Amino acid sequence: MKIAVIAHDGKKAEMVSFLNKNLSVLDSANIEIVATGTTGKHAQNAGLKVERVQSGPLGGDAQIAAQIVEGIVKGVFFFRDPLDKHPHEPDINMLMRICDVHNIPLATNPATAELVLKGIVFE
Ligand code: PGA
Repeated sequence: MKIAVIAHDGKKAEMVSFLNKNLSVLDSANIEIVATGTTGKHAQNAGLKVERVQSGPLGGDAQIAAQIVEGIVKGVFFFRDPLDKHPHEPDINMLMRICDVHNIPLATNPATAELVLKGIVFE
């Protein structure tokens, strides 16, 4: 099972702390993680094992969307920053649309992420 994690700049610390908090759950469920470039770098710096694609504004969201379409990514944890502007807004909307097209769980804040992770693990 592979999940994707993406966090906008104002939310990267929350993403790293969410991943750290759930490290043993992720490990014991054999969950692989793919992340957009900078989010993945933060996670790696915190000692987590993640695969990285391009940074979001450079097409990383699109790469993750492609993995959803191919049936590889089964859940998306996308901590968006609602208080900031993003040059790649069309990619963000595209990724969320692709989640809906393929009925992929999409958590856009830590509270939802905790619930979705529990659901994925106990599936
Ligand atoms: P990043 O991309 O992890 O490379 O910062 C996330 C984003 O801002 O879309």
